[in-house]
Parts: sequence; structure tokens; C-alpha cells
Amino acid sequence: MTRNSVLLALRENPLAGGVSTEQVRRIGKELDNRGLEPRWAVSAEEAGAILRTEAGLSAAVIAWDLPGGTDGEGGGADVLRQIQRRWKRLPVFLLMNDDSDQDLERLPLWVSEAVIGYVWPLEDTATFIAGRIVTAAQAYHQDILPPFFRALRRFDDAHEYSWHTPAHSGGVAFLKSATGRAFFEYFGERLFRSDLSISVGALGSLFEHNGPIGDAERNAARVFGADRTYFVLHGNSTADRMVGHYSVTADEIALVDRNCHKSVLHGLVISGARPVYLVPTRNGYGLAGPLPPHAIAPGAVAARVAENPLAAGAVAPEAQYAVVTNSTYDGLCYDTVAAARAFAPSTPRLHFDEAWFAYARFHPLYAGRYGMAVGPDTLPGPERPTVFSTQSTHKLLAALSQGAMVHVRSSPRAPVEHERFNEAYMMHGTTSPLYPAIASLDVAAAMMDGPQGEWLIDEAVTEAIRFRQAVVRTGRRVAEAGDRPEWFFGVWQPDTVTDPATGTPVAFADAPAALLRSEPSCWQLEPGAAWHGFEGLTEGYCMLDPIKVTLTCPGVSASGETSSWGIPARVLTAYLADRGIVVEKTDSYTTLILFSMGITKGKWGTLMDALMDFKSLYDADAPLEEVLPGLVEQYPLRYGGGTLRGLCQDMHEHLASGELIASLDAAFQQLPEPVEPPQRCYQRLIRGGTERLRLAEAAGRVAAAMVTVTPPGIPVLMPGESTGTPDGPLLRYLGALEAFDREFPGFHSEAHGVSVDPESGDYLIECVRRSPA
Ligand SMILES: *Cc1c(COP(=O)(O)O)cnc(C)c1O
Repeated sequence: MTRNSVLLALRENPLAGGVSTEQVRRIGKELDNRGLEPRWAVSAEEAGAILRTEAGLSAAVIAWDLPGGTDGEGGGADVLRQIQRRWKRLPVFLLMNDDSDQDLERLPLWVSEAVIGYVWPLEDTATFIAGRIVTAAQAYHQDILPPFFRALRRFDDAHEYSWHTPAHSGGVAFLKSATGRAFFEYFGERLFRSDLSISVGALGSLFEHNGPIGDAERNAARVFGADRTYFVLHGNSTADRMVGHYSVTADEIALVDRNCHKSVLHGLVISGARPVYLVPTRNGYGLAGPLPPHAIAPGAVAARVAENPLAAGAVAPEAQYAVVTNSTYDGLCYDTVAAARAFAPSTPRLHFDEAWFAYARFHPLYAGRYGMAVGPDTLPGPERPTVFSTQSTHKLLAALSQGAMVHVRSSPRAPVEHERFNEAYMMHGTTSPLYPAIASLDVAAAMMDGPQGEWLIDEAVTEAIRFRQAVVRTGRRVAEAGDRPEWFFGVWQPDTVTDPATGTPVAFADAPAALLRSEPSCWQLEPGAAWHGFEGLTEGYCMLDPIKVTLTCPGVSASGETSSWGIPARVLTAYLADRGIVVEKTDSYTTLILFSMGITKGKWGTLMDALMDFKSLYDADAPLEEVLPGLVEQYPLRYGGGTLRGLCQDMHEHLASGELIASLDAAFQQLPEPVEPPQRCYQRLIRGGTERLRLAEAAGRVAAAMVTVTPPGIPVLMPGESTGTPDGPLLRYLGALEAFDREFPGFHSEAHGVSVDPESGDYLIECVRRSPA
């Protein structure tokens, strides 16, 4: 275990002479004896470096006359301000100079709010002063614990005997077998001690939302800006099903973003709702954009409902519920207030699936772009819909896998009565929750509370911006060097940004990081801008999230013009994977990487290096044996003797040839015909079963499973929809993908819901069996 530490920032080297300094050195020694590691600094800059890297800081002692600092107030003031930016409650003592005429009345007023006490080294004994610091540090460590985690620790420390489930009883049962013992020892006693049953009344109940669990949910609601927050232990998938199951019932209409997760569809199966899909825009890279403003305007929504044959059989013509993915996988987030205003005439309940976006509230860059930003403050008036936000807390905040939350902001128009929502909640919950998982949700919320939340997210944003600028600058240096082919990888982002203070555009790579970190307009998708390639957007409607970085490869532009040569991203990511770098997602000419709180400079430096190496290999037209040895070994006949450039060019020509792109376009412009509501389709599947059909046999059938292909990573076929005619858009598109996979073994398309016949390479899709005539 690492030790907690205390920052001691003083005017001179602690080893220097002087009675006062010597006394501070003794205080440090005393702290060390009592288990706190002293970290010395003799300037504001050194103190700053410790503050940036030391999360285990328990207290700080700062000399007011510390050298350094940037703002003219002096080093001590500078460090106090740095502390305030990250820590809300860290105990800070101001170290006063015994030799000078410093006195409290000459300190600025704000200082007394920033510190909890003053230390005149010579006025008390070192032991006494260290004792005060240690006491404050201990109180701080109690104080930072959120409600449930605090209660759980207290309970575990009490070591009671229990007579209830789980039967392993604090892990003892595992110790009775060699296999069990291996398990116990691997995870350690603490996991088993804290794995308690809900019979432990003192910790509260997840279903009744009371006791410390209820306190933890209320604390999370405060932190995330919700009226009410529910902890969910089976992933955001369950959160999505809960909200869907609560919001809409059998044969009512649900408005569903076509770019939705499977779990949303499962919610529709369970509720029996009739989905009417809304279609996102796409750009030349094939990336899915947001639902454009014109697609969510009341008239357009009404028209889509009117043309949907299933909606005709609904119990009422108005939708009860709409669900939108925010942000998209590629990091596109909405002006949620504008989206809610647009949806208001069409639905009383609006659900933002924010699986990848739980951090949005904690950085000013995302102001107004997350579900919980929609409330009476931002959207006054009776039309405001009730808003749900579901988040995979574990995906981009720090929680154990499966940890998720539902946040609710209820409107008078469709009030969410807790008792009723809780019925849906309990139906999808377990009566035996894992307490360490609950604690991780409690901790995830506490970590975001106060200034440190912004600090943590800002770090991820800052690293992402550094990487984004580094890629562009490297491209520029390559071009300027003139000694090698000019191309380099790009980043999907604006080429220039404008500081609203000056109104002058600057190149993205040259923009001050401070501007990019704080100015949302730098990241907005301006209507009509070439870099993003989406049509029909309005000012400020959609923003690119800096931490979701899409690398672009040569070959195609955002508006879809193809060039004579290209590097399909799948070749790049195969190379990266060989070097131990695994990306989040790969499309035709783009690949996505995420900058989460866990990213470090070492990690992205390695990626930059790999990109440079790939360029050198490409420019030298290296043999595939050298670049992708595993691939050549697996498919010697196909790739043996080939070169990197040759493979890229072959694949580029195949991708750029009309069929794949044209059929992809068609498949997204004309959604398949809905034949059965998802629930009915599911009933038929259970009674009649399904069969896997080759594309050649699949025409005119009802799909039983969701088919999602990348790009654009959104479903092309939903259960209950018709596969269409043999030369219809869907089967033509799947056929084109199948042909690609045959041509380029080892680079098969990412297609979920499609299985591949290992012998023939044929695509198979799951269709509902025809009922016997
Ligand atoms: C991952 C994801 C989910 C499901 O979340 P889990 O926590 O994995 O269950 C739901 N919606 C979207 C958009 C997702 O990306």
C-alpha cells in the first residue's frame, strides 16, 4: 500500500540552517514517524508538480512567502489557489515566518477561507504541530468517504458473525477447498468481507432506496444534477431496459434513434412498444452523425409516424417516449436543451442514452450538452418533457464493470412517481446486489464532486488536445521536410478555430491549449463546414467531444470524394494490433481512440511512434511479411509476396468501387419495411424458432436479430423488419460486404448479427422461421 503524504512547501531548503527551518524539518520527521510521508517543495513550481501528481495528499503546509508563482501575488498564494482548483476539503496550514513581521491582518481575506490553520514553527513543539496536522489529515480521510462506502467500511471493520447469505460467510467457505482457496487468495479477504447480504439492515436496501444506499443515491443525484438517481448493477443495458419498460407500454409508439444500443431494442421487446425510427445523418467517412434538427422537428416526426405501417395499429397516434444516443460512439453530442425543445411537441418523455458520456456535467466544455441539463431552469414552460439519462458509469468514470445509473428530471407534464418507476426498477434488478459494486458507484460520484471532478476530466481533455495537435503538427513537419512523401494521418476535427475574444481564426494545431480546453465553440460542428461533412446542422446544435479522437487515413474526404490512392483503416489497425495497440473501433478510413481518465502521455506517445513507423513502412513499400507477418502466415496464398502499399491500394480500390458505398447509402436512406413489432417478432421466434439463411435465400423474410455493421456502426436491420427484395438496398449492401470479406481474408467487416459460414465464407442472417402454411 502506498502511504499518504503531506506537502511541506517552504522558503528554503529544509536542510539549510536557521532555527525556524530546522523546526519545520523536525515537524516533517514527526509526520513521517506517524505514517505520513513528507513531500518537500521550495518553490511554487515544485509544489505545483507535487499537487499534480500526488492523489494521496492528506494535508499541506504552505509558506506564505514561498518563492515563485505566476500571478504576482507570491508563491504561497499561487499554491493555495492551485489547491482550491482541485481539492475542496484538503486541510491546508499556512506556514508563517517567525523572523519577519508577517501578521494575519495583512493577508488577503480569501486566505482564511483557503486554510484551516496557521503554523508559527517556533511557537509550539514540533510534536504538537505535527499532531495537529495528523489529526486534520485523519479527519479529511473520513470526510472524503461518500455515504455508502463509509458505512460499508465501518461495518466490515466491526467483524460481526453473520448467519445469513452469502453462504461463503466472509470467504470462509472458500477456504475449505483448494480451488476455493486459490480464488480467495487471488482476490483477498476484503472482497469477501464486504460481500454482504441485504439482510444487513444497517447498510440500507437497494430496492427501498433507504439507509446508506439511499443516501448514496441522493448524493449521486446532487452530483449529477438529477431530481433522483437510481443505482443499477447490471450495466447500462439494464438501465435502458428499465427506462423503456417504464416509459411506454404495449402498442404505444416509441420514437427511437436508429443509432441505438441493443438494450434499447430489448426494452421495446419487453414493453411491446411500436418503434418509429429516426435516422441520423452520415458523412463521407461513413460515420454516423446526430439526428439532424430537421429530423426531430414536430412535422418530420409526425410524417415518419404516418408512413410507418406498424404505427397505424398503435393505441394512440402520439408517441409516449423518445430515445436518443448522446454522445454517439464517435463523440457527437447534442445541445440537449434544443433537442428537448424540438422533441417536446412529439413526446412527453425523452431518454438520452449517455453510456459513453457520464462525465459531461463535470467540465464546462460540455455545458448544456447532457440530459440532466434539461430542467425548469433551461427549458421553462409546461411543454418540457421528463428527461431520463442512463449512464454506464463504468465506461468512462471510475466504477466497477456493470456499474450504471439512471438519472431523472421529472416534468409536471409526465411526472415520474417514484413508486411506479420503482416497479420497473425492481423488475430488472436483483435482490442480491454485490455491495462492492454499489460502493464503486458511490465512489465514482464522490470522485466527480467539487473541483476535483473538473480537474480529472480536464486532464483527459488536455491530453486529448495535445495528441490531436501533435498529429497535425507532425503532418506539417513531414510536409515541410520535403524528403519523403507528403502524406500523414489526420484527425477528424476543424482545421481552424476562432477565439471569440479576438474573432480571428487560427490553425487548430497552433491554437492555445487554454482556448481549446475552455471554448466549446471550437468544437461545434458549424453548419456546412467541410471537415465534418454532415448536412442539415444548425449553429451550436452538435459538438465534437475532444476526448473521442477519430484518426483519419488518406483515401476519402468527409464529404465522400475518394482519391486515387488510399490507406484503409483496417490495414493500419491490424498493424497497430500487432504492436499491442488496440483501438476502440475501426471504420473504412477512420479509427477511434478514447482518452479516458486513465490515459497517460506514455500511452499516446507510443501510438504516435507507431503511426510514424507505419508511414515509413508504407513509403518504403515494405513487404507484407515484414509489416503483418501473422497475416501472411495465416493466408500465404493470398498475401505472400505482397507489399503494404499493394494491399492498401487493392483494398482502397475495392472500397472505393461504387457498389459498397452506393449500397451503403441506399441501405440508410431507405430503412427496411417494418413487418412485426419487436415483441410479436420475439414471440414468433420463441414459438417458431429462427433459421440462419444465406443472403441468397433471405429475401422477403422477417429478421429475428439486429444486424449492425461498421461503418456506420448502427443497425441496418432490426428484428421484425423485412429483408426486402434480392436487389433491395439491404441485401445488396450485405452482399457487397460479403464480397469484401472474401477478397480480403483476415480483414473481415465488423458485422454484429451476421454469422459467417466457415467453409464457404457466406454471410448468414437470423430470420424468423416461416410458420407452416
Ligand atoms: C455500452 C452501451 C450500453 C450498455 O451499457 P453496459 O453498461 O455495457 O450494459 C448502452 N447504450 C450504449 C449507447 C452503449 O454504448
